Amino acid sequence: DLLVVGSANADLVIGVERRPAAGETVLGGDLAVHPGGKGANQAVAAARLGAATALLARVGDDGHGRLLLDSLRAAGVDTVGVLVGGAPTGVALITVDPSGDNSIVVSPGANSRLLPADVRAAAGVLGASRVVSAQLEIPLETVVEVVRNLAPGSRFVLNPSPPRELPAEVLAACDPLILNEHEARVVLGDACTSDDPEDWARLLLARGPRSVVVTLGAQGALVADGSGTARVPSVKVDAVDTTGAGDAFTAALAWRLGAGAGLADAAAYAARVGAAAVTRRGAQESYPTAEEVEAL
Ligand code: ADP
Repeated sequence: DLLVVGSANADLVIGVERRPAAGETVLGGDLAVHPGGKGANQAVAAARLGAATALLARVGDDGHGRLLLDSLRAAGVDTVGVLVGGAPTGVALITVDPSGDNSIVVSPGANSRLLPADVRAAAGVLGASRVVSAQLEIPLETVVEVVRNLAPGSRFVLNPSPPRELPAEVLAACDPLILNEHEARVVLGDACTSDDPEDWARLLLARGPRSVVVTLGAQGALVADGSGTARVPSVKVDAVDTTGAGDAFTAALAWRLGAGAGLADAAAYAARVGAAAVTRRGAQESYPTAEEVEAL
């Protein structure tokens, strides 16, 4: 019922005492390889909650691609739409120092080869999906093609990350546009003159989406549509690692909307999922089952 269109990356993480300066070599700890990328994260998060979830993405014909496919299948994601080949699997090279500060290089690789033609070839799944969720770690033209091929009555959810200005055609399709504080500021650009998320939500709504959700980390979220704005409280937890919380939130929200929930109810559920995700390390490894969300 849920189709995620987006990225799949291998996150290669090395802990270091100090991140290297130009021309410098430093020794780090053992390499850790984690399945990541916003598309794959969302698909795994939704499937773990019990949603019937498919992913349209592209990985390389290499070990990282197989690692991602294994992780997706283990979570129960339908991987028929995960295309293989054309470029190496997308990779994020991450160094983390003891204070938690990191330096990251991303090679989009196969993600940059997920093209509009791939979307047209997947018209069958697209037409059969009640909710379609996308992010921006794939080419924008590909997201535009998704919007043009939505089935009548299906719902489009976009997390504009990494953030950039968006064409009107994409904005008009979003229901909701879902973004964190940083993403909201970038999407608004010069129009962002206030520090109040309620102002951002109003300004964003005026650009065409039918609804907007601003996620506010430990402060929960804000939902806005034609009928007004509402705060969604967060759940108090001991946060261990917030990596991938936004992806879990978006996946849960998209799934609940597809199941017929209203925006505020879907966001309240998503806030519980996001809270559960920050209580454990990692992204995909941290995502809860529906039972774990109930127990929170
Ligand atoms: P992103 O990961 O995209 O930056 P946020 O940090 O806003 O997104 O987190 C997404 C959602 O996850 C929040 O709206 C909130 O519901 C939940 N969440 C994130 N951090 C915490 C936290 N420290 N405590 C409780 N809930 C959290």
